[in-house]
Amino acid sequence: MADPPLKPETLAAQALHRIDPQTGGLVPPIQPSTTYARDADYRLVVEGMSYSRDENPTYEAAEAVLAALEGGHSARLFASGKAAAAAVLQALQPGDHVVAPRVMYWGLRNFLVDFAATWGLGLDLFDGSDPKALAAAVVPGRTKLVWIETPCNPTWEVIDIAAAAAVARGAGARLAVDSTVATPVLTRPLALGADLVMHSATKYLNGHGDVVAGALVTAAEDKVWARVCRNRSDYGAVLGPFEAWLLLRGLRTLYLRVRRASESALAVARHFEGLPERCSVLYPGLESHPGHDAARRQMTGGFGGMLSLRVAGGAAAALEAAKRCRVFQRATSLGGVESLIEHRATIEGPESPIPDDLLRLSVGIEDPDDLIADLEQALRPG
Ligand SMILES: *Cc1c(COP(=O)(O)O)cnc(C)c1O
Repeated sequence: MADPPLKPETLAAQALHRIDPQTGGLVPPIQPSTTYARDADYRLVVEGMSYSRDENPTYEAAEAVLAALEGGHSARLFASGKAAAAAVLQALQPGDHVVAPRVMYWGLRNFLVDFAATWGLGLDLFDGSDPKALAAAVVPGRTKLVWIETPCNPTWEVIDIAAAAAVARGAGARLAVDSTVATPVLTRPLALGADLVMHSATKYLNGHGDVVAGALVTAAEDKVWARVCRNRSDYGAVLGPFEAWLLLRGLRTLYLRVRRASESALAVARHFEGLPERCSVLYPGLESHPGHDAARRQMTGGFGGMLSLRVAGGAAAALEAAKRCRVFQRATSLGGVESLIEHRATIEGPESPIPDDLLRLSVGIEDPDDLIADLEQALRPG
């Protein structure tokens, strides 16, 4: 009888149980060489290994783990999350139509708007909180890419991936999901019908705030994926081998980190849900959140480490609370082991659609009591 398949958590912890063939090492070596030798007859010494922009065993080790965790056909690492997204957009042709939610990671939405204008794409932004809005936004035959992010920054609205996949398929488009916040621990978009998963691996996948990286995972080996892979090579947004190695190391503890952050975020959310005079809480794990039902359908084992607080008393009170924090660090980014707090409207500037009373929290792996106590004293009246 065949052994039962191993769970993703086991695959991650063991980085696929691989052993370095040269030494027996359980941790793979870093291969820093940019180029690979040919023999006297000009054959590559190791077939398929020519130049490190395209081939490097250190990238491949991390890519294999990611593909397994997402249940995909294969994965590619990129120099950043944005570079990964760019490789998908650059696979489109001028004239193609793209749809994306109006509220999503700000940096990527701005890039998408800019890129669509210069590349000659049609772009429509839809209301991610309205389940019918996506179906109304696609143009069958013309829409080639549906891009979604869920839960989405920084209101944590939840888009139903299976429903979005059905709409995309019906229109003849592909569905790409920015799953940076959910991670494969909580959501597996490919199993729900998505074609591509994108990650800012800078966040939870690496998890230690010391690598900028991106990743794409594909459900199938097809023409679009071949183009995406060529884009990585042609535009050259490759990751360095040292960063890829650190990312592989971070991936080993992904499940522990994300589960802990999710439990603590839920504890923080429940605590402050009971103090409406101080703030209102946006978190998909709360029954009061509009995305809760969709989240229950597609998130398993937790609702993630990200939440936002809308502080009673407005922008000044929100900034004052951020200022008083002693445990939460005031910094952008998310998905690391240490908790961060951020006033998004300040970061995004005057054009920002984000309410100026909103503080975004990235809950880390510290003791949740310390986190709650820190926010308690920060949000105290007066
Ligand atoms: C950070 C982030 C990105 C961009 O990734 P970089 O690695 O910073 O380029 C994209 N999407 C989401 C949801 C993010 O949080």
